[in-house]
Amino acid sequence: MSKADEAGKRLIFRSARIFDGDSDALIEGKDVVAAGGVIEDVASPDPAIDRDAEVIDCSGRVLMPGLIDAHVHVYAAGLNITRVVQSPMSYLAHFAAKFLHGCLDRGFTTVRDVGGADVGLVGAIRDGLLGTVPRLFYGGRVISQTGGHGDFRPGDHALDGVTCCGCGFHSDHMAVVADGADAVRRAVREELRRGASHIKIMGSGGVASPTDPLDRCQYSDDEIKAAVDEAERAGSYIAAHCHPPEAVRRAAAFGVRSIEHATLIDRETAEFVAECGSYAVPTMATLFGLLEEGAALGLPAVSVEKLRKIGDSALKGLEIMKLAGVKMGLGSDLLGQQHVRQSSEFTLRAQVLPAIDVLRSACSVNAELMGQAGRLGCIRKGAVADLLVIDGNPLENISLLAGDHAGIAMIVKDGKFHKRSR
Ligand code: ZN
Ligand code: ZN
Repeated sequence: MSKADEAGKRLIFRSARIFDGDSDALIEGKDVVAAGGVIEDVASPDPAIDRDAEVIDCSGRVLMPGLIDAHVHVYAAGLNITRVVQSPMSYLAHFAAKFLHGCLDRGFTTVRDVGGADVGLVGAIRDGLLGTVPRLFYGGRVISQTGGHGDFRPGDHALDGVTCCGCGFHSDHMAVVADGADAVRRAVREELRRGASHIKIMGSGGVASPTDPLDRCQYSDDEIKAAVDEAERAGSYIAAHCHPPEAVRRAAAFGVRSIEHATLIDRETAEFVAECGSYAVPTMATLFGLLEEGAALGLPAVSVEKLRKIGDSALKGLEIMKLAGVKMGLGSDLLGQQHVRQSSEFTLRAQVLPAIDVLRSACSVNAELMGQAGRLGCIRKGAVADLLVIDGNPLENISLLAGDHAGIAMIVKDGKFHKRSR
């Protein structure tokens, strides 16, 4: 059997307007030919190859690459992370399966987990135990300083309705606590040994953690430099959680490749990030999701209070980064049942950014950030055949990718149909 037969029939997407994941203008009059799970060609229609292929008429529709979400936590089964990290792994694994299926139904064919996902889940996906789900890149456990954003042991919030049985006093499934450059090096090596494709560190306080101020930096210069050094030597890279400008600036200065959130970024810092060439991955979906219904869904009061500090400046941060020319990826960072809001990342960003920028972030920029340029997030010869057929033009109406997802007529992953409404 040929490789093409193994992966199913050759598919020809005809008469589509093509968004290639990067270019401003749609490409017209070309066929996209998929075979063996990859894009074999983007070329003028050729009757000679039609015979042994299935031709899919895409007239009036836009064909685009499968979406990438560069900031998810597939094991974040609830809004109270202190509880999540004490949950049995079996429960978290089932949550992850549901989360991943939801992602694919929303058109996300690739996700990057930045805290939690591990080799066991990737093995289960590889062995077909979950059926068809997005391709998963994982960073293993987040690395945090004691008392940092990844230290979920009960602290002075223990009276805030959070259990305090002490079982969270070991390092958990989601995070590992490491202090001092040597310990950080060792933690980075350990996660890489477990197969992580990238390493996530905590560069500032955050919303979900109980005791650390959101607007203060975490980790010393030496610790961050040690993490970057270890990751780079292994051919990997660092993603760092950062809200305040100073944390963002330090991350960029020390060679962090992927700066997560960057919520409070100012103009000067954005210009510096652009100069350094780091990427930023803002996460609007979780911010607005938690502001709207976090308290009702069990987000601890201390976190709700922290959120108020960053809510106002988040969208402004996007405009600042756009003006400064920061390479912006796209992430959603949703917790628990809020994962259904994943596609609100598009509509929220489109309030202040052109749709083309938002789509590029979810396609070519995310792929580049993850070292997958030319393979994922693009429509070009040799790329993986992850494709969406959209009923209309998302460059004019980005909400076609959101809402109930009826605007996504077809979802193709690895050259095979996952959804085909008509
Ligand atoms: Zn974070
Ligand atoms: Zn996160």
